[in-house]
Amino acid sequence: MRNDTHHASLRSWVPGSDAGDFPIQNLPFGVFRVGDGTPRVAVAIGDSIVDVAAALDAGLFPNDAREAAAACDEPELNSLMALGPAPLSALRRALVELLRDDSELLAKNREACMSALVPMSSATMLMPAEVGDYTDFYASVHHATNVGSMFRPDNPLLPNYKWVPIGYHGRASSLVPSGSPVPRPMGQSKDDAAAAPTFGPTVRLDYELEVGIFVGAGNALGQAIGIERAEEHVFGLCLVNDWSARDVQAWEYQPLGPFLAKNFATSVSPWVVTMEALAPFRAPAFARAEGDPAPLPYLASERDQRSGGVDISLEVLLVTQQMRGRGDEPFRVSKGSFTSMYWTVAQLLTHHASNGCNMRPGDLLASGTVSGEAKESRGCLLERTWRGSEPLSLPNGESRRFLEDGDEVIIRGWCEREGAVRIGFGECRGIVTPARAGQ
Ligand code: CA
Repeated sequence: MRNDTHHASLRSWVPGSDAGDFPIQNLPFGVFRVGDGTPRVAVAIGDSIVDVAAALDAGLFPNDAREAAAACDEPELNSLMALGPAPLSALRRALVELLRDDSELLAKNREACMSALVPMSSATMLMPAEVGDYTDFYASVHHATNVGSMFRPDNPLLPNYKWVPIGYHGRASSLVPSGSPVPRPMGQSKDDAAAAPTFGPTVRLDYELEVGIFVGAGNALGQAIGIERAEEHVFGLCLVNDWSARDVQAWEYQPLGPFLAKNFATSVSPWVVTMEALAPFRAPAFARAEGDPAPLPYLASERDQRSGGVDISLEVLLVTQQMRGRGDEPFRVSKGSFTSMYWTVAQLLTHHASNGCNMRPGDLLASGTVSGEAKESRGCLLERTWRGSEPLSLPNGESRRFLEDGDEVIIRGWCEREGAVRIGFGECRGIVTPARAGQ
């Protein structure tokens, strides 16, 4: 639901908030640290962050926002996530009152307001949550069809795809914050022509452009989440890079699915944009082709069909070591939209909990590679270079089939729409470093 916190006329007194990813209408949450200080919850505004616990100590929040603000004096977002939407919404309203350019708090106590701000440039951003469980879905029908047609030309899309949201249990321990280096993993793979597999550094390292869904309030074991209330259990969305070793994946994936090809590193963006901030950018669910089955009743909701999508523009940029050395601009490899996903956020969460599986605050569900119909909107190199058969030509004369050491992948996401102020997700970055030998 849109409310006063989304007004396009709202402006903030904080420098840098008139343009870029973090206007007053956004207010995403993350976790920061200055130097070797204690990590705490942050809210991004312009070029600064609000130290929420410091603002609470300075008496800058009304009563109804204090429960959520108190949950921000923590080294991860989990306590805030567990509170659910109402306290979070009260904190958002209070932050708008604090940060708006006609703020009475600023007029009354400028020193206290300023003391709650930290320059973003002086902060180190950390993993936003302690993720107990991580699940990766496969929600783009275009991605599933493209990848399926490479591995099974006669039968690209398996018969379950349009009925059941496909996913696998990933590994939470190897989630890393944006900016962490990504060492090239070792793994077992087998060339089609070879008689036996070999073990060594992957030669088909890839990224996957994904949107992350952070669970807010959880559900008890055995208690499913109905589709109509599913979004009440979603804290917000972020950007995810599901790094993948394609040669390892091709050899290991049958019969149980992805394993070591995926769990050597998964990068997560530092800022989580709340579902409330995304309200102006909602869109209809994916329009299924004629002849596709309707979602089964537990995944069907008139409201979700009408507005269960989120219109997020997404792009992947590449900077090779040579480009970085010469100061070249990042090269845009692809641009897509989260509206191209076959399943909505609510359907993914509802399905996950439909057998009584308990979701916990801070659990992370990734969407699966976001790929659209157009070639330019394919969200991984496997699809973008069609398994390496159509190499990318970079402006400096280099080419890429898969990632090389020194390559940096940057994922960006943002929402814009007539009548609303553009908001962004910031970036999710990672540089590939050479393989490390075993100890
Ligand atoms: Ca994935």
